[in-house]
Amino acid sequence: MDFKVYNTLSRVKEKLIPIEEGKVGIYTCGPTVYNFAHIGNLRTYIFEDVLKKSLTYLGYEVKHVMNITDVGHLESDGDSGEDKMALGASREKKTVWEIARFYEEAFLKDCEKLNVETPSIISRATEHIEDMIQFIKILEEKGFTYIANGNVYFSIDKFEDYNKLANLTLEELEAGNRVEVDPYKKNPLDFVLWFTNSKFTNQIMQWESPWGKGFPGWHIECSAMSIKYLGDRIDIHCGGVDHIPVHHTNEIAQSESALGHKWVNYWMHGEFLVLNKGKMSKSSGDFLTLSRLVEEGYSPLDYRYFCLQSRYRKQLLFSFESLEEARKALKKLKNKVNNIVNNKLEDEKIDENKIYSYKEKFSSQISDDLNLPNAFTVLEEVIKEGTLNNNEKAYLIEDFDRVFSLNLLSEEETKEILMDEKWVEELIEERNIARKNKDWARGDEIREILLSNNIEIIDSKEGTTWRVK
Ligand code: AMP
Ligand code: ZN
Repeated sequence: MDFKVYNTLSRVKEKLIPIEEGKVGIYTCGPTVYNFAHIGNLRTYIFEDVLKKSLTYLGYEVKHVMNITDVGHLESDGDSGEDKMALGASREKKTVWEIARFYEEAFLKDCEKLNVETPSIISRATEHIEDMIQFIKILEEKGFTYIANGNVYFSIDKFEDYNKLANLTLEELEAGNRVEVDPYKKNPLDFVLWFTNSKFTNQIMQWESPWGKGFPGWHIECSAMSIKYLGDRIDIHCGGVDHIPVHHTNEIAQSESALGHKWVNYWMHGEFLVLNKGKMSKSSGDFLTLSRLVEEGYSPLDYRYFCLQSRYRKQLLFSFESLEEARKALKKLKNKVNNIVNNKLEDEKIDENKIYSYKEKFSSQISDDLNLPNAFTVLEEVIKEGTLNNNEKAYLIEDFDRVFSLNLLSEEETKEILMDEKWVEELIEERNIARKNKDWARGDEIREILLSNNIEIIDSKEGTTWRVK
């Protein structure tokens, strides 16, 4: 089955042809660790996790590399903005190193809670400074750089087709760049590879280099580290859409200039999670974290489920109302799964042909540029399908959950549902007593409470039963 991905570079859906048959190398831009990741960032990591798990599901061997941007101030491409890491350090009375390690750990914990698998390799920028220096030296030898005011710049005019990824006009690119006017740049879109003369004079994170003591520019870490770990031709490179016009455009310019050939075959970008009032940004301080959702009573997997209900290339509007909808829907789904698991009979045979046909259906949806909403439709079909026995259903649910990663069959989750079942039984008992006492109002109220939890009660001569709607 062909796995199709929308390639930002070609602007069409393409069949994935890995460089090495059966293996896929993926590089994803990791977090800048001066604050907690916001749920927008986490949406992108969930999308990348689903990509990786879909490929694994389809039988590919995936090598996934992600960087950690732990060098201070690597937030803007120029010598502009604020030193985010130093700001975080003074805000929290910690050293910049402590800040970086603290937020890296917090990020990895968030990922764990969201069932986002740890990449095969996580590489910290601060541990790859020498690789970056070597990379800049190659660019310098090949004539792509110039030095001005003590800093090493990449000259974009030396690289043909600078605009190929973003496909924007020069004005749009410049606007996207949001660069402060730097009088030392030959072209306003040039970017710094190595700073020795920064406006941030009291930098703690500084390293010796052939150009003097300083620190790397923002983009060079991803080129240097991705090539180090995945080789000089990479299958897939991912990130959020905000990276298209600046960060990834600059990564391509410096990597292809150094290598002398095409570097990444497929560029995949996740659209933004947005709030009603607009963009969520780490720097504005106005953002929602996973912990905040948990404080509000949601489980991290409610958020994962919420994200999986929409295509990754569509903007997703976040609100607590829609998260609540997702929470209810996930609960309903788990109740159905639980019913199946509790009612399966050990001697029911699994028919390989039937399983195969549903696996094919599921595979064709995830292979269509990760059509997760349709993949959930296949799951619902399996749950409803009268010709499948409960053993077959449970098998398929577990199988699809390798991609969804919602713990649909986990014992812990089942325990929670069993507790819920007890709660339902207790409410029904209370309703029976209320009805005996002709307290119809309480009886109706209980029916409503259960209905709002998607539980329908059925009264008959034999008594009251219930089912998940
Ligand atoms: P950062 O830590 O700011 O470098 O961002 C980490 C990842 O999150 C990058 O891939 C960004 O493109 C992505 N990202 C940033 N903001 C959002 C958002 N609101 N929604 C989805 N992804 C985002
Ligand atoms: Zn990057």
